[in-house]
Amino acid sequence: MKLQLFLFATILNILPLVYVSATEEKKPANSEIPQTQDLVNQVLTFARNHQDFKNLYFKEHEHEFIRLAEQGQNPHTLFIGCSDSRMVPDLILGTKPGELFVIRTAGNFVPPYDQNGWDGVSATIQYALEALDVKHIIICGHSHCGAIKGLFQTINSTQLGILKRWLQFGNEAKETTMKIVKPETSEKDLYTVAEQISVVYQLAHLMTFPAIKKKVDEKTLDLHGWYYKIETGEVSYYDPETFVFKPLKKLKAQALQSILN
Ligand SMILES: [Zn+2]
Repeated sequence: MKLQLFLFATILNILPLVYVSATEEKKPANSEIPQTQDLVNQVLTFARNHQDFKNLYFKEHEHEFIRLAEQGQNPHTLFIGCSDSRMVPDLILGTKPGELFVIRTAGNFVPPYDQNGWDGVSATIQYALEALDVKHIIICGHSHCGAIKGLFQTINSTQLGILKRWLQFGNEAKETTMKIVKPETSEKDLYTVAEQISVVYQLAHLMTFPAIKKKVDEKTLDLHGWYYKIETGEVSYYDPETFVFKPLKKLKAQALQSILN
């Protein structure tokens, strides 16, 4: 058994090298070969970058990683963001390993509470609340969101049936957007409005979780609705008193003020 495992591991280790040399020797006969080469090159890049991580970042923060492994995680915040590759929570917030508990979904949508539900998003929210006792939940939407754009497009049920069902959690945002925008509103502005309104609806979905409502009422949990603009790197927050998104630096001023009062 051990020998089989060793052989399997060895094969896995040398496979990329074999693949590279095989594709280098043969001239591409059709368009599939360059694509295979691209895949292999990407794997090699992953491996090289990981080695850099081990040699540099991990080495520098090794004690912290060991502490996190031994003591367990104690994140202060549950961050719910879109799966979009341009959304990088730790980079945007300057947070370190162990600080953010993260859920990523298409459109940063959250299904409303369902006691008999079995979806991974709700289960992960429950874990963050009951086991990790997070103090903040951030729902973060973003500009150029493909899921929000998808709300306004016809989606092929056969090819993208699962996605189509998932996008139902953005329907309220779409309907409200259509009611409030003017006929002359550009497509780009329409999507921006829907992206921001959706954040507010997802916060409402969160509030249908009894445990969230209880903690918010007891003031032991803070909910935040944020919007990240990819092209400027700016984050704005939803102000429930004025119903508008404001620059995050204003939230900082507000927080300081509440401490002083
Ligand atoms: Zn998105």
